[in-house]
Amino acid sequence: MNVHEYQGKEILRKFGVATPRGIPCFSVPEADAAARSLGGKVWVVKAQIHAGGRGKGGGVKVAHTQEEAETHAKSILGMTLVTHQTGPAGQKVQRLLVEETADIDRELYLGIVLDRATSKLVFMASQAGGMEIEVVAAKTPEAIFKEEIDPAIGLGAWQARKLAFALGLKPAQINFAVAFLQSLYKAFIETDASLVEINPFITTKDDKLFALDAKMTFDDNALFRHADIKALRDTAEEDPLEVEASKYGLNYIKLDGSIACMVNGAGLAMATMDIIQYAGGSPANFLDVGGSATQEQIEHAFEILLSDVNVKAIFINIFGGILRVDRLATGVVAAARNLKVKVPIILRLEGTNVEEGRKILKDSGLNFQVGATMKEAADLAVAAAMVGV
Ligand code: GDP
Ligand code: MN
Repeated sequence: MNVHEYQGKEILRKFGVATPRGIPCFSVPEADAAARSLGGKVWVVKAQIHAGGRGKGGGVKVAHTQEEAETHAKSILGMTLVTHQTGPAGQKVQRLLVEETADIDRELYLGIVLDRATSKLVFMASQAGGMEIEVVAAKTPEAIFKEEIDPAIGLGAWQARKLAFALGLKPAQINFAVAFLQSLYKAFIETDASLVEINPFITTKDDKLFALDAKMTFDDNALFRHADIKALRDTAEEDPLEVEASKYGLNYIKLDGSIACMVNGAGLAMATMDIIQYAGGSPANFLDVGGSATQEQIEHAFEILLSDVNVKAIFINIFGGILRVDRLATGVVAAARNLKVKVPIILRLEGTNVEEGRKILKDSGLNFQVGATMKEAADLAVAAAMVGV
């Protein structure tokens, strides 16, 4: 789960991470009042959406007068902000953050993520802050310094110091930086985060350090331990179909292709998306109905798949283990009837009660195509999707 920058900063502050003072706003009068109550002469008005690249897209503006703060708030609130992370459709801005500005000296980068290759967290730091870190990683990977963290020990002070020196910080800044990095690590661990990114992490002319931006992502499977964080979810920032799917306990991720997938088990879902690509098609989604899908869930799954206008065929790939194939087939037949599904449905079924399942499909009188193997079924699905185009 993602949260907004202002929410991430509120969380980080609790762990002692220094951020500028700021106030979240939902309307222009609120933004006006926020600038007034923050005081000072310069403010920054920032669009709050769950995507980076806001600065380039016109979603971060500095105001030098109270009137200018209001003008910026008016222009940013409600705009459709397009950044490299939102995709061409952009994201509507519904919240703002009005902050005091910082006297920026240098813009640096900090990030913590899980390195799946080593199964360890890795703390990243770079002098190339304030720009797209993906570009830095692709073009000049040597500009990103990394410290692998031993989970039993945590981020050692010596490691934080090493990163601070790699960032070229001044002697007067090193101790602050070590404390800053350790607070950031503590925040990551204690909130069950899966990503923390501070870009830019800034130094000021008077040697202070601040998180000028904050991106935090949390592990969905740990949210039950963090009611306060769970409450920060903003479904307006999520794909409506994904929100709908999560209501029914379905793991659904929308993609851009034309072949909808309904699969049980995440591994099989990944393999299904791969084989669709291999057969020359492209998947419209990832959907794992889980091990114990009920007929009702299967029907909801169909509804969600079919609300994607790009879908030209549905590929159902099931290995019946705990989820018996006959039960799945009954659910599919009922859903296809109730929802009057017009797009072709291709199935590949194996496992418990597969014969009964095949019979149920056949006896339904509906026009299902069944592939004997995954590859055959994928080929059928790709062919069916082509016809639809
Ligand atoms: P992002 O583009 O979505 O990553 O948004 P950021 O919060 O990182 O802001 C983008 C850029 O705006 C930063 O890299 C800074 O250069 C600039 N910026 C953000 N806050 C301030 C501020 O308080 N003062 C000044 N002068 N620039 C800022
Ligand atoms: Mn940023």
